[in-house]
This record gives sequence, C-alpha cells and structure tokens, in this order.
Amino acid sequence: MEKQPRYRPERRYPEAKRQSYTCDVKTCVHCGSGLKSRPNWHAQKTIQTLKGPLFLAGRAKVCTNPECPHCGTRYYASQVLLLSLPSSTYGLDVLAYIGWRHEHDQRQFVEIQRELNQKGIEINERKRRQVISPIPGFIGSNQ
Ligand SMILES: [Zn+2]
Repeated sequence: MEKQPRYRPERRYPEAKRQSYTCDVKTCVHCGSGLKSRPNWHAQKTIQTLKGPLFLAGRAKVCTNPECPHCGTRYYASQVLLLSLPSSTYGLDVLAYIGWRHEHDQRQFVEIQRELNQKGIEINERKRRQVISPIPGFIGSNQ
C-alpha cells in the first residue's frame, strides 16, 4: 500500500497580519498561586476579517501548585475568542456583518456572499454552513 503524504495545511494567506495572545490571568482562581505559561499554543489559525486575513495564536497558562485541588487547570487566552469562534475561520466582524445584512437589511445569503467576495473575503458554498450556523437568524433557514 502506498504511504499517504502527511497532511499539511497550506498557507493560504502568507501576508496575514499576525497576532498572538497569552492568557492574561496571572494567578489561579482556586489557590491564588502564580500561573505558568504552557509551552504550546492552544489555538493557531488564520481567520478572514473585514480588515483582511489575520493569523491568531493563543497561549494558555496552567496552575502547577501541587497543593491546589485544581492543579493542572488550564486558563486559555480569551482574547482569541473575542475575534473568532473556536471552530471558525472567520472573524466575528464577518459573522456580525452577515447577521446584520440578513436580519436588518433582509438580504439573502447569496447576495451577502457576493458582497463579501467583493471585499476580498473568500466564502463559498462549502463554507456556508460554518459561517451561518452560529448566526441566530439563519438557524434552520434555507436561504
Ligand atoms: Zn491552583
């Protein structure tokens, strides 16, 4: 059997601005001891925003106090979630734009999709579900 090449995500937006965040909580909420930064990123992804592509990375911290009943608890960089939902590759500004155009301006998804494409945001039928499912007005909707 032929060996499958290892999956490597292609860098589609090499020009993307890069922003990284470390969890801003300094002490464990359970024991009060200082938190340590984790060696790896808990989030690393490129999202599309209305201001262009953005590479996001988040580093968590962890409680390492062996006396703490919650030793090992991770504290994530919540700033990442202010910009994009966990499983989404679009910025919250794009989701807000779609929701507003749909709910307030009564636009169909295809029209909004065309507008976003004109703004340089790649959004196609395959991504449609990912994009509209978190937007309340689109739940169960087929437009
Ligand atoms: Zn602790």
